[in-house]
Amino acid sequence: MNDLKNKADILIVDDHPANLQLLANLLRDEDYKVRISTNGKLALKAIDNSHPHLILLDINMPEMDGFEVCKVLKKNETTREIPIIFMTAQADVKDKVKGFELGALDYITKPIQIEEVLARVRTHITLFFLQREMKNINQILEGKVRQRTEELEIALDKAEESSKIKSHFLALMSHELRTPLAGIIGLSEIIKEEEKNPELKEFSDSIYNAGTRLKDTLNAILDLSRLATDKKQLDFIKVDITERVGLIVKSFKDEAKFKNLNLNFINKSGILFGDIDKTMFDIVINNIISNAIKYSKEGNIQIRTSSDIEDGYKWITIEVEDTGIGIPEDKLEIIFDEYRQADEGMKRNFEGVGLGLTIAKQYTEIQNGKISVVSQLGKGSTFTLKFPLNSSGKTVSLTEEKQFENTGKLNTKKKHMPNVLLVENDDIILNVTDIFLKNICNLKKVKCGEDAVKSVEHKKFDIILMDISLGLGIDGIAAKNEIRKKSGYQNIPIVAFTAQALEGDKERILKEGFTHYLPKPFSKGEITKLMEDIFNDTLK
Ligand code: ADP
Repeated sequence: MNDLKNKADILIVDDHPANLQLLANLLRDEDYKVRISTNGKLALKAIDNSHPHLILLDINMPEMDGFEVCKVLKKNETTREIPIIFMTAQADVKDKVKGFELGALDYITKPIQIEEVLARVRTHITLFFLQREMKNINQILEGKVRQRTEELEIALDKAEESSKIKSHFLALMSHELRTPLAGIIGLSEIIKEEEKNPELKEFSDSIYNAGTRLKDTLNAILDLSRLATDKKQLDFIKVDITERVGLIVKSFKDEAKFKNLNLNFINKSGILFGDIDKTMFDIVINNIISNAIKYSKEGNIQIRTSSDIEDGYKWITIEVEDTGIGIPEDKLEIIFDEYRQADEGMKRNFEGVGLGLTIAKQYTEIQNGKISVVSQLGKGSTFTLKFPLNSSGKTVSLTEEKQFENTGKLNTKKKHMPNVLLVENDDIILNVTDIFLKNICNLKKVKCGEDAVKSVEHKKFDIILMDISLGLGIDGIAAKNEIRKKSGYQNIPIVAFTAQALEGDKERILKEGFTHYLPKPFSKGEITKLMEDIFNDTLK
């Protein structure tokens, strides 16, 4: 308190010298620094020279009364905050009210009571310094918040910039890897089918498998990166989940048979509809079943669906149980982390990059589901997935899910072989596609957009397969737009035949006016199935 007194500068304004002297002495005795003024004008000058911490202001003064002085001070930004205590005669209630209205903090009645004056001065001086302190702290805090906000804004800009660079890099990497992969997978598939020499057939088989593995790894890394860059958007639709699981189980039949494993699907729940993102859901179930097969040398893989009620919600439970190698207890947690595996190091016995379960977990949780595992080393593992259900719904057409028989033969009722224009600047893909389609259509191949536009002027094509990135010259979208202007080409199917296969690429490209979309790399089965669909549906 004494500290405050030494610091406090008080101005007393009164036209009565006796009053002035009395008050000044009283406050000086208390160690306050005191200045005095005998009229309003002198007081304003003194305040102008140096702002006091408190003003004791007499109301009744000649020339300029205390109210006038107060008004001037309150108008001025720099003096507005100086606390004022009016001094007034005991009976002047009106004056007291007016003083408060003008912004005075308090009043002292005359003749003054020593204890009262000292108490009020002490209170207001303390308040003044406390408020000033608070203001300083506020300013410091505001400064810190401002600085932090600026830093965060810079960090956000940087993060957005790196996210853009990352997305660009992903798009580029995806495109650059898909194009050569389409050649590797396509050509090895052709050799594998055509080659008679068993040793060469085996080699091509290995190239095909290695290429497919690389494609799966690429897809897994891209899937995960897209989740991290928040670009993955959910596309919920109502689906009979048991039917969906059954179809996925079926697609693993050959793989299980090849390893002499029994693959069973037990549907204990009947038809159950749930809102899922079909692509994500398929990836989850695929990853879990594929692991069950990969990590089992013999025995059974059982996939069971059932439903139950938990926390007031209805859930579908999908269990994938295997009799495989099992997982050590201390690894049960880490196997869901990125790139982590129960068996790590150069001597590990299994292929894989350790992303399948990470993706399965993230895709399950993003769909409001749960994933867990119990396992016994050497005996087997059971992965349990739970997804929330909706009780009613419409069946989603499963025609598109039907397993395509990879015969390579076209089941078309059309009498003539369709004329197909292939626009592709990569020689290997040009040749692979040519061989894949040779028995089902007349294929004309061109390597740039300009030649594609010229070709349609001379011949009528039934379908056009158009690569999007065509190197120099116009791109596939511009070529498609030119072709659409030609007579007879307004409605013919034009397939985007592209290595742009990231999240959202399909929708974006179809919006450009392509009728179909085929991402690279593709298998013979995929391209012939697409052609069959187009022949049968569009060219009826
Ligand atoms: P990857 O199979 O490519 O290594 P995942 O993320 O799919 O990656 O699996 C992580 C690890 O979890 C595997 O490396 C394996 O050690 C273990 N694991 C996953 N599924 C099974 C299973 N069904 N049986 C035994 N181990 C499994």
